[in-house]
Amino acid sequence: MRYLFFLRLLDFFFPLLCGICGREDFFSLKIGLCKRCAYTARTAKPSYRCNVCSSPIAAPFTVCEFCDSRNVFFTKVFSLRDRNDLLGELLNKLKSNHEYPVSIFLSLGIRKVLRELKILDIDACILLPSYSKNRISNSDLRPFSPSRRLYEETERILKIPLIDPLMKTSAERQAGKSFSERFFHAYSAWDIDPNWADRCPSKILLLDDVFTTGASVNEASRILKKNGTKSVYVLTYLRVTD
Ligand SMILES: [Zn+2]
Ligand SMILES: [Zn+2]
Repeated sequence: MRYLFFLRLLDFFFPLLCGICGREDFFSLKIGLCKRCAYTARTAKPSYRCNVCSSPIAAPFTVCEFCDSRNVFFTKVFSLRDRNDLLGELLNKLKSNHEYPVSIFLSLGIRKVLRELKILDIDACILLPSYSKNRISNSDLRPFSPSRRLYEETERILKIPLIDPLMKTSAERQAGKSFSERFFHAYSAWDIDPNWADRCPSKILLLDDVFTTGASVNEASRILKKNGTKSVYVLTYLRVTD
């Protein structure tokens, strides 16, 4: 009886069943997906990547067209994988419920990346706030953040604190602004938390689920840099490449 309980406990802490099809094999035990599903989820490795956003590029130029053509405020993006349909589905699965096997699979390779980041002496990390502040402060409604596991590993390897200097721009604050103020501020989803104004740490690691256009990451980086940050590194599970 006690032995059975112990086995159940093991099942709880170590993934046994594939996060996609529910089958169990050696792979699902180790990486959260069975051999067949892990094979389907694989992505091609491009030969060259942009020096800033790490998106695949055709020739060994240093920076992609996108990063070259606008103000980029972040220093470098690290993504664990290029997104494909199946990986996108897995990320959604992770968002809708706390699928532990899926989070293991999506964060494969993170330790290697974090060890590379260690030499950069990053001061703190931020989980990019993508939901309303009011929902976070109400613990009953607290959404599960898929980036949570990125943070757990980051804390373990880099030993840096999680800080929360970005606040969602409130509707009231927008409404109180003049037209020209609104024109210049409308595009910003966040404000700096007054406690962090002009005193953001020098090197920050932003954690987010997926790097899509980079617009939100860039905007967050802009605000941080305006408030004292020198470099912003970005780490995501997935990167959209097309
Ligand atoms: Zn499977
Ligand atoms: Zn780029």
